[in-house]
Amino acid sequence: MGIELDTTAVARLRDRVTGTVYLRGEEGLAAEIACFNPAIRHDPEIVVALASDDDVVEAVSFARAAGLPVRVQATGHGAEAPIVGGMILSTRSLDGLSIDADSRLAHIGAGVRWAPVIVAAAEHGLAPITGSSTSVGAVGYTLGGGIGPLARTYGYTSDWVRGFRVVTADGRIVTADRDTNSDLFWALRGGKGGLAVVTEMTLELVALRSLYGGSVFFEGGAIEPALRAWIDWSADLPDEATTSIALLTFPDVDGPPPPLRGRTVLSVRFAYPGVSIEGERLFAPIRAAAPVYLDFVAEMPTTAVASIHNDPEEGGPAWIRGFMLDTFDQDAGDVLLELAGPGSGSPFLSVELRQLGGATARDTADGTAVGGRDGGYTLALLAADPSTFAEAAPARALAVADALRDRISAITNVNFAGDLADRAAFEGAWPDPVQERLAATRSQWDPDRVFAFGPS
Ligand SMILES: Cc1cc2nc3c(=O)[nH]c(=O)nc-3n(C[C@H](O)[C@H](O)[C@H](O)COP(=O)(O)OP(=O)(O)OC[C@H]3O[C@@H](n4cnc5c(N)ncnc54)[C@H](O)[C@@H]3O)c2cc1C
Repeated sequence: MGIELDTTAVARLRDRVTGTVYLRGEEGLAAEIACFNPAIRHDPEIVVALASDDDVVEAVSFARAAGLPVRVQATGHGAEAPIVGGMILSTRSLDGLSIDADSRLAHIGAGVRWAPVIVAAAEHGLAPITGSSTSVGAVGYTLGGGIGPLARTYGYTSDWVRGFRVVTADGRIVTADRDTNSDLFWALRGGKGGLAVVTEMTLELVALRSLYGGSVFFEGGAIEPALRAWIDWSADLPDEATTSIALLTFPDVDGPPPPLRGRTVLSVRFAYPGVSIEGERLFAPIRAAAPVYLDFVAEMPTTAVASIHNDPEEGGPAWIRGFMLDTFDQDAGDVLLELAGPGSGSPFLSVELRQLGGATARDTADGTAVGGRDGGYTLALLAADPSTFAEAAPARALAVADALRDRISAITNVNFAGDLADRAAFEGAWPDPVQERLAATRSQWDPDRVFAFGPS
């Protein structure tokens, strides 16, 4: 049951925006707000497919008058639960992108995914610090901090933001940067939501044309020695290199590439943005740990960064749990092998562990709201078979969490925290002092809670 919207006000909104307004039940609405996980289908009262900053101002003003909570969506990669009721602002068409090579700044519209930013920056020998998947939205990702394949060298992506243009809850278009509205600028770098609608982000790029990296795969009896070698090797890895692993269990069906179909493999990922010969030397112990099944680690252009993790481009049904861990040693390796390794009957398509540390642990000089700087690792469990979502996946995730309970960090960065409507997930996404300052900043910039965010 929805609320009755004032038809005159809707007609006026339609008249005033250059984008498109969809009401519940209208054709085009579902496609505009489709999520990466197709099992999640939002059901808002109204969607505004934005075409300009002024559209945001009009839409927010309409929502305020109608008493509708406002949420923002770009790609739908972050959707964890269906949104029912209210207004969704779809930023997909805010796709402006320009690069100023001299200042090394990219101006990125709210609807832009990482892929075009990477390509445009590469034309100038520059690169953004992205996440593992280049189809994720640059702004939504960065608002949470952003932990990518080069994280230990360059830190959270939000550490590279130089400014935002936003529309506030009271309908003003303002800048947030180091000198202007610096409290909002602090909060938008890691605080994720409940603050304002970002229409453009200015991101500093790094001078980088290529890196040494990719992924090697181990299979069968090679998995355990490779995992054990990775645990010891990564403990001493210099900050200039970033690594992660994923235990992947592929179903025996059409879809996965033939060498992976029906197999459990360990993917060891590596990224070193220095000279290849040094990258090769650093990575040699992993290649020597056990017979390598597939080897895709080599010098690569920055435009190939997505091939380090090989995240799926197309979404699908997924059940996900994420944690941060303080430590990961051989005992923790036992847990992973027992509960998610070959022959364990793991319901997970992917069990991924990303090593943090290095630059992720260091806040910027002016400070940010990023949660999870103290984490040692991220651990993400992902099941893709819907028949496991109700019981097998949650039960196995509980077993993993229980076995690792002494290592689970108090804080899990918001991009890995899961459904923020869940109070425990929300409260665990930032340390208490950050949580308090964020609450104060949200109250200041959105006192009437126009922008719905977190537990209700
Ligand atoms: C395949 C995959 C790979 C991923 N890899 C990584 C990774 O390597 N590192 C990492 O840190 N995270 C990763 N994530 C998590 C990802 O960063 C978050 O899900 C992020 O929120 C996605 O942003 P989006 O804009 O694409 O998604 P959306 O679902 O469109 O947006 C997510 C949220 O961002 C906020 N938001 C988006 N745009 C705006 C805006 N203009 N103004 C205000 N708020 C806005 C809203 O709160 C919205 O609910 C990954 C997710 C997926 C599905």
